[in-house]
Amino acid sequence: FRNVNNRVYKLACTGKERRTEMIFIKSIYKSYNNGKTEVLRDVSLSIDDGEFAVILGASGSGKSTLMNVMSGLEKADKGEITVNGSNLNAMTDKQLTEFRKNYVGFVFQQYYLLPHLSVASNIKLGADLAKNNDFDEIIQALGLADKLNKHPSELSGGEQQRVCIARALAKKPRILFLDEPTGALDEKTGREVLDCIMKQKEKLGFTMVMVTHNQNIAETAQKVILMNSGKIVDIRANKTQKTAYEIGW
Ligand code: ADP
Repeated sequence: FRNVNNRVYKLACTGKERRTEMIFIKSIYKSYNNGKTEVLRDVSLSIDDGEFAVILGASGSGKSTLMNVMSGLEKADKGEITVNGSNLNAMTDKQLTEFRKNYVGFVFQQYYLLPHLSVASNIKLGADLAKNNDFDEIIQALGLADKLNKHPSELSGGEQQRVCIARALAKKPRILFLDEPTGALDEKTGREVLDCIMKQKEKLGFTMVMVTHNQNIAETAQKVILMNSGKIVDIRANKTQKTAYEIGW
């Protein structure tokens, strides 16, 4: 056990590795429309530092809402959400913005690139947020070196998603959150993008949380959190992780 910010962190032992919790959630609830639409009900989970967790479930089961709450995009109605040692539910909106800026990166199904800026400027925006100047390696690793002067509309879907990944990683986030990152891509491009995400995770060692409705993609994760109707119905560890090219699609 270790004490960080007055919270006792459990050290999980996996073989020789000793890991601390990066995300700890206890009994959170979230509803919309003044409580009429209950979306998350008594959700608890933990994700270790450096772990790759997938949140799996059918459309409408509450996956994106759970991701939004654990990444500081939205606040839960009640419950405990401790991420990287900070209690997100006790933060002001300004503190949450600061938290997101300093610690997390996002990749969404819809790329959300700024259309009037070049690839280089889009990526630089991410890097500037964290005052990071050394992102050339990420550009090389994602195969974007010859695309830097292009605008998003001149790129294929897979290339645009690689720019989004580069933008998120240029911040050097502690946690990368991805919501259906391959949802808009065909099989070949989807596998390439997933492979590239997993390789960057291996290399850089950040914690990764990916939302998907695709059971095959869940086989690439270390931990699978299964949701149904706003509740977690199962949390399982994959004994072995498949690569993006070994799974079905
Ligand atoms: P998933 O990611 O699994 O598809 P979501 O978390 O997006 O599920 O949505 C879960 C449920 O919450 C859905 O029924 C959705 O309509 C509802 N919901 C999500 N966001 C809002 C919102 N901002 N206002 C009202 N209802 C919402």
